[in-house]
Amino acid sequence: MQQVPPAYPGMREQDVDTPALIVDLDALEHNLDRMAALIAPTGAKLRAHAKTHKSPVLAHWQRARGAVGQCVQKVGEAEALIWGGVDNLLLTNQVMGSSKLARFVALSGMAEIAICVDDLRHIEALEATGADASRRINVLVEIDVGMDRCGVAPGAPAVALAKRIAASPHLRFKGLQAYHGGAQHLRTPQEREEAIRGAVRDTTQTLDLLHAARLECDIVGGAGTGTFEFELASGIYTEIQAGSYCFMDADYARNHGGHAAGFAHALFVLTTVMSQTRPGRAVVDSGLKALAVDSGLPLVHASDIHYTGASDEHGNLRWDAGAGVAGVCLGEKIRLIPGHCDPTVDRYDWYVGVRQGRVEAVWPVAGRGAGS
Ligand SMILES: *Cc1c(COP(=O)(O)O)cnc(C)c1O
Repeated sequence: MQQVPPAYPGMREQDVDTPALIVDLDALEHNLDRMAALIAPTGAKLRAHAKTHKSPVLAHWQRARGAVGQCVQKVGEAEALIWGGVDNLLLTNQVMGSSKLARFVALSGMAEIAICVDDLRHIEALEATGADASRRINVLVEIDVGMDRCGVAPGAPAVALAKRIAASPHLRFKGLQAYHGGAQHLRTPQEREEAIRGAVRDTTQTLDLLHAARLECDIVGGAGTGTFEFELASGIYTEIQAGSYCFMDADYARNHGGHAAGFAHALFVLTTVMSQTRPGRAVVDSGLKALAVDSGLPLVHASDIHYTGASDEHGNLRWDAGAGVAGVCLGEKIRLIPGHCDPTVDRYDWYVGVRQGRVEAVWPVAGRGAGS
């Protein structure tokens, strides 16, 4: 861990050491308010996905705007949030391994928490863990609604698992997890809507069969930043799991022709120009170890300069000086918009919250790291 934060409150953004993970607090609050306003008139609730921010601080801000709780992707994230005072979590994933399951069950004594399964063997392992700890575990069945990742087939196979959960003395059937991750970054709204139409069809069919079997769902969860308006419109999802909306990233902006669809870019990597030997080009101190590039290279914020390549600790910038594009100078600090927010956040120990050029708050990325 980087024990010394790269910034302290009151400092100017320009004095923050780089690379640093900057959150523009005005933009963040705009995003949180906008999502709250979009969800409020519907019957659904927001259960924001914390794999994006990994921070109980952000979870509390979302809760203050009406979120019922948080989603997490792994036990380590759940621990970081619960130790930070978050009291309602859904682990939107399958967990295997006795030590992890024991950690999960221990958390159920500290917060309301549920987990997803897609296999009888998960149910057997959870029942054994619950029996061992004398606890009752909340369980959702995850169905594959087109993502082709985790999830049992919708319909009868899902109902068979739900029945088994309901018949297990140390488990409680809580509902369905029906997330279509593959739909989030389809480039046109028509493609995204079409994909979610399929997810809604699969989920509705499964809900009907569950109802016929007298198994009711407290939670029907799914949706991300790219599709949540379609899941909301369906009326069958009780909880919306959008995560990236709080920060937005360059790849989500590409869903909307290069702008952030009413949400603002709130997450940046602040970087320093460390070399500038030729006209129209420069090198910054943020490369692969400062930015996730799996969803494309970062953008240079509010500029026509292009970030054209990343190596471990270097990022290459190019601009067309002949066309009058203003370049950057040696030593200058600039904001980059990451291609993919979640794994970029995971590379940092500290958030640096900035408002109008001044550092207002510095807080840890509590749940970061590859450990789970
Ligand atoms: C990542 C994820 C989300 C949130 O997706 P965003 O695109 O970040 O909004 C929601 N649900 C599940 C299960 C996820 O894995």
